[in-house]
Amino acid sequence: MSLTLTVDGPRWRAHLESVADAHPGIVPVAKGNGYGFTLGRLARKAQWLRDRGHDVTTLAVGTYDEIPEVASRWHGDILVLTPWRPFVDPLEPALTKRVVHTVSRLSDLEQLLTLEPSARVVLERTTSMQRHGMSARELWEAGELLRSLPDGRAEGVALHLPLAQGNHLGEVSRLLNDYVAAAVPRRGPDTVWVSHLTDRELTTLREQYGDFVVRPRIGTQLWLGDRGALRVTATVLDVHPVERGDIFGYRARTAPKSGHLLVVSGGTAHGIGLEAPTGESSIKARAATLARGGLDAVGFVRSPYSIDGKQRLFAEPPHMQASMLFLPSGADVPAVGDPIDVRVRFTATTFDRVVIT
Ligand SMILES: *Cc1c(COP(=O)(O)O)cnc(C)c1O
Repeated sequence: MSLTLTVDGPRWRAHLESVADAHPGIVPVAKGNGYGFTLGRLARKAQWLRDRGHDVTTLAVGTYDEIPEVASRWHGDILVLTPWRPFVDPLEPALTKRVVHTVSRLSDLEQLLTLEPSARVVLERTTSMQRHGMSARELWEAGELLRSLPDGRAEGVALHLPLAQGNHLGEVSRLLNDYVAAAVPRRGPDTVWVSHLTDRELTTLREQYGDFVVRPRIGTQLWLGDRGALRVTATVLDVHPVERGDIFGYRARTAPKSGHLLVVSGGTAHGIGLEAPTGESSIKARAATLARGGLDAVGFVRSPYSIDGKQRLFAEPPHMQASMLFLPSGADVPAVGDPIDVRVRFTATTFDRVVIT
């Protein structure tokens, strides 16, 4: 009945451990839909890594609203990636010592420390991403402000870089030099919290900035880095033979040729989209299909479901929890209850069940 993510447990856990081993100081990122696994499950897995002796002290969440999902399953520090703003609700007192705020504006630093003088903070320096962060000058002023306060301490600097390209180091050292120049008083060792550096870049950074602890924030590569450990399946819920011209669906469409209509689990509520996430979509490829009189020429759109070794077409747009596919005659017809493979974007999919073997 469900859209199911089946995880090869031993293989997945071995992958998690190998990524943790290769990235000392790793900050696992558990945000959004928990990369398909749910936030609670990722929090437990991060705790498991820590219990196994890996160097994992801090778990990152995306937003303040996500803290309750992880706080009882993970027992270490929690870094919030979205920068603190004055409209964020105050933390529960039990959490103030565990939560590390990202602060990306000087005015926010002033306000946060007024509300909570011993708040734990990481200062964000803006990068070429241009998302959040302080300029060099603001960072310098933040250092000045912290030096003027008895409890004024930061736990390092955060840099959010564009996706790994292997050429970040020039930018990183420029930004780190801004941080060093700001002489920010620190709590614990000086730390740089980074995303999307390649392993080589991380190694070079550690060599060049020996005084810094380098903490890579990693989500996708950790949780989803071994796709072979993950299988996504839907279930065939119904099978109807159709002849060319037969009417079906919410919009009373007609079947363009004979075959089968399949009703399968998975719909808009799961994040099943109208078009497959990858595949041939070039104008040339589409023109070729039109010329052949292919089914998408009559308005059928490629679905993410595979049957009999081929990605199949939606017979109509996905429904809330189920989808209708068209299977042209000639293909092997699955039976009601059979599992079929689905290709999804994990960060945009809500599974009914996650089964870890
Ligand atoms: C999401 C996020 C990450 C992790 O990104 P992945 O590509 O999933 O590894 C790291 N840093 C920040 C600030 C993020 O928002």
